[in-house]
Amino acid sequence: MKIITKNEEGTLAFAEKYAKDLLPGQIIGLIGDLGAGKTIFTKGLAKGLGVQQNISSPTFNIMRLYEIRATKTNQEIKKFCHIDAYRVESEFEIIDVGVEDFIGQKDTITVIEWADKIRNILPGRTIIINIKLLKKDQREIIIDQKK
Ligand code: ADP
Ligand code: MG
Repeated sequence: MKIITKNEEGTLAFAEKYAKDLLPGQIIGLIGDLGAGKTIFTKGLAKGLGVQQNISSPTFNIMRLYEIRATKTNQEIKKFCHIDAYRVESEFEIIDVGVEDFIGQKDTITVIEWADKIRNILPGRTIIINIKLLKKDQREIIIDQKK
């Protein structure tokens, strides 16, 4: 599946809508150059999932965890785990921060920016989303069901 967005708002809105189809335990790997829109996409997902806190870039923390309050339509997803592997040099670093306690857990949706850096430790069911910078405000978002 492919879509083109024409501005930041378009990517936010698409991700917000896409979030509604996610199942508990799903893992999303985002791939794209610096400034492609991985963090913007993550913000849209968080909004769609009902995260109330502002999503900040976890570059210096590698991982941030957000609580999701139960709603009528979502009883099962309780946590949103945001990982940014930008500064990760080896897969061991990511294991060291304890991601395995959250990745793929039944009550958690996990999103990983720079997923290509830790591809070897991603489960096969990870949904890979490529974001390509086409023009100044134009991005192509390509969703693959497998890594
Ligand atoms: P990344 O996390 O991939 O490095 P960010 O999401 O932090 O990138 O930044 C994307 C930048 O591109 C933001 O400044 C955003 O305003 C801008 N931008 C312009 N057009 C788009 C678009 N169509 N979708 C997403 N971001 C866009
Ligand atoms: Mg980012």
